[in-house]
Amino acid sequence: PVLRVAIMGLGGYGTRVAEAMKDCKKAKLVGVISGTPSKVKAWQEKYGIPEKNCYNYDNFDNIKNNPDIDAVYVITPNALHHSQAIRVAKAGKHVICEKPMALNAKEGQEMVDACKKANVKLLVGYRMHFEPHTLEVIRMRQAGEFGKILFFQGLCGFKAGDPGQWRLNKELAGGGSLMDIGIYALNGARYMIGEEPVWVTAQETKTDPQKFKPGVDETIQFQLGFPSGAVASCLSTYSMNNLDKFFLNGDKGFAEMQPSTGYGPIKGRTHKGELNQPVVVHQTLQMEEMSDIILHGKQPVVPVNGEEGVRDLKIMDAIYEAVKTGKKIALK
Ligand code: NAD
Repeated sequence: PVLRVAIMGLGGYGTRVAEAMKDCKKAKLVGVISGTPSKVKAWQEKYGIPEKNCYNYDNFDNIKNNPDIDAVYVITPNALHHSQAIRVAKAGKHVICEKPMALNAKEGQEMVDACKKANVKLLVGYRMHFEPHTLEVIRMRQAGEFGKILFFQGLCGFKAGDPGQWRLNKELAGGGSLMDIGIYALNGARYMIGEEPVWVTAQETKTDPQKFKPGVDETIQFQLGFPSGAVASCLSTYSMNNLDKFFLNGDKGFAEMQPSTGYGPIKGRTHKGELNQPVVVHQTLQMEEMSDIILHGKQPVVPVNGEEGVRDLKIMDAIYEAVKTGKKIALK
């Protein structure tokens, strides 16, 4: 069987996912949820979507009566994910939700609980968890090829353009660069080191308070400490381009990736040489794998479930607390 997906939010990333899904064999775009009738019409024509699979933000609870949709992929501004995902779950459909899954760990946990209660799966759009170069570095680390892991560096950023966009609006974004792009460094620190952090420290710098209003972080540097003694040092920013780099160091070797989380191609090398894994369209591979996870219970190497999303949110909560208090925050 094929996973029949409706996309909610027909913006930039929704469009990218829809295009990538054209090459999927195990997943198919069959429906849309949008507040803009002209977009719905264009998508219907482009992707052959029947009228009965088109919804808006007021009526999408009716999707519960639609046997031709298995899952809804929520690709709207961050602040909307929580309520939309819970409504999808209540309609009895599996939820795929973009990162950040929610604005904080409390919201994230409520989404996990709602999906559990409704007996539907909840997955977060962590496309890097399926990316071949990334998985090769994880395999090498698990095989001990880097020795004892000591250090990770994650640098993630881009220059945020249009000051009117939702990404720079606290109400819709929930925060700033950390929610949007710094999450890649945070999530990367966890899957590269292969442990859960036990403390965080963090510092914020703001060079443009006009553009980056209170509650919208321009640049945050954060550090994580892990049970083994390994440490991570990360930078998240909305004010620098060409910042997309991971470095993992152990006592026997290293891995370096640049770009490390962009749409690709991902490039990298280790102490053993260049990484030469297949170049893939991340979103195509992600949707193929998510089909197997939802329909066949496949276990990915790095989890993409709601619990995984909540782990990142708990640490992001602590990073914001560390910024505010200037203190080292212990994580449970
Ligand atoms: P976007 O602005 O291009 O699209 C957002 C869409 O949501 C638009 O179509 C907009 O019309 C719609 N929308 C619905 N309700 C809205 C409201 N109340 N206010 C504003 N817009 C509303 O943004 P995007 O880049 O597509 O990001 C959407 C989500 O996808 C975000 O959570 C973002 O973090 C995530 N994302 C993930 C990746 C990735 O690589 N995994 C990449 C980009 C974006």
